Amino acid sequence: MKPNVLTPPPPDAEARKAVRPVICYPVETLPRPDLDAYRALRDGLEPVARVIIPARDARCWSIPAGHFCRIHCHEGPQVGDLNLFNATNLTERLYTGKTRALNGTHVGRGDQLFSNLPFLRPMATITHDTLDWYGFDAFGAAVHDVIGTRCDPYTHNLLSDGGMYHQCCHSNLTRALADHTGLSLTEAEAHVHDVLNVFMCTGFTRDTGQYFMKASPVRPGDYLEFFAEIDLLACMSACPGGDCSSEHSSDAANCHPLAVEVLRPTGPPLGWVPLPVSGYDRSHGRG
Ligand SMILES: [Zn+2]
Repeated sequence: MKPNVLTPPPPDAEARKAVRPVICYPVETLPRPDLDAYRALRDGLEPVARVIIPARDARCWSIPAGHFCRIHCHEGPQVGDLNLFNATNLTERLYTGKTRALNGTHVGRGDQLFSNLPFLRPMATITHDTLDWYGFDAFGAAVHDVIGTRCDPYTHNLLSDGGMYHQCCHSNLTRALADHTGLSLTEAEAHVHDVLNVFMCTGFTRDTGQYFMKASPVRPGDYLEFFAEIDLLACMSACPGGDCSSEHSSDAANCHPLAVEVLRPTGPPLGWVPLPVSGYDRSHGRG
C-alpha cells in the first residue's frame, strides 16, 4: 500500500478490490511463431560475425533477416542494454511498452520483440535462453526485462544534485549509433529508445510498486538467442552497473565485456515468411 492515504475507504472497498483481474491481451489471440521450426535449425548454425561489447561502452552490429544472434555472458556477470532497429529505417525500432503488454514484464523463449507504431510487427523471436530455469524468484524478480528504460545521464543529474556521468547506457548507445551511422550525437540520441535489459534481474516491490534490481544470476557461458524476423541493426551497451547488484551511473561496479555472435542457418525455418508491417489502414476514422 502507498503511504499517506488521505481518502477513507468506501464501505465496499474490499469487494471492489476483490474483483479478479483480466489479462489485457490474452495470448490466445496473439499470433505465435512456430518455435519448433526455428529451433530445428539450431544444430546447423554457422557463425558469420562476432562482436565484443567493451565494458561501460556500446557497439552496433547487423543481423540479416533469417539469421540468429546470441548475446553471451563472456567474462563475468554483466547486464546488456539492447536497442533494435529496422536496418533500413531507423524510425522502426523496438517498442518495449507493447512488447511488455503482449508478453509480460520479462521475455524468454518463444516471445517476440515488437516494433513501434505504426509498424507493430515482430522484429525478433527469442529462440533460446540458458537462464530459463530462473523463472520468478521469491522477490518477484525475473531476468530479461522490458520494464526498465536504460540508465541515462539526465536521471543521474536529477538524482545526484547535478552530477555528470558519461558512461550511462543511454550515452554509450548514442555514441555507438553515431559512430556506426555517421549521424551527429544529437541526431543519434533521438533514435535511442527503451531497451531490452538482457540478463538483468528485476521486478517491482510488492508494497510500494517500485522498480528494483538485484544481482544478475548470469554466469560466463550463458547466452540469450534470438532470430531476426527482419533485417536488424542492433546496438547494445555493457551497462556500467555490471551485474546491477548495487548501483549504476558510476564507475563503482565491477564490469565485464559482452560477446555477440551472428549465426547463419542452412536455410529459412520451415514455412517462415518475413512479416509485413501492421495491416491497419491508418485512416484513424477519417475518410
Ligand atoms: Zn545501464
